[in-house]
Amino acid sequence: MPITPLHFGVLAPVNHFFPGKVSVVSFTLINLWMDGNAILYYGFGLDRPEVHGPMTHSMLAALVLASILALLGFRSRKWVIGAYVGGVTHVLLDMLVHAEMQPLYPIHWNPFYAGLMEPLSLILLPLTLWFVVQVVHDSFTWAKSKLAAS
Ligand SMILES: [Zn+2]
Repeated sequence: MPITPLHFGVLAPVNHFFPGKVSVVSFTLINLWMDGNAILYYGFGLDRPEVHGPMTHSMLAALVLASILALLGFRSRKWVIGAYVGGVTHVLLDMLVHAEMQPLYPIHWNPFYAGLMEPLSLILLPLTLWFVVQVVHDSFTWAKSKLAAS
């Protein structure tokens, strides 16, 4: 799912059941990193790169990239968990909708491809909206607490 906010739908139930345990920032950064080629292509018109290649869209790559990102904030358990949850769920979602992916690289095919773009999007859209509501609610709660403290 290149440049889609739907990946963030995963965070809604995670934040609901495990509030404050997963960093939204590291989750966001790993998703942007993994879809970096797509962002360069769709956002800046660069030559079409390998959007879902194994260097970004395989479980091995997700774990390596998440480990690199986790190192940047290794003192925060929340940061580390966000990096891994973001990376692993990115591959789990994308492998269902992109036939060209190699999620089990070095195995060169995708045994999990199911052509589920529309049904998966229909599930993730309300979850993404739920996540937006959570962010707005948390922002108001934070602002109220700052106003009350001053
Ligand atoms: Zn992707």
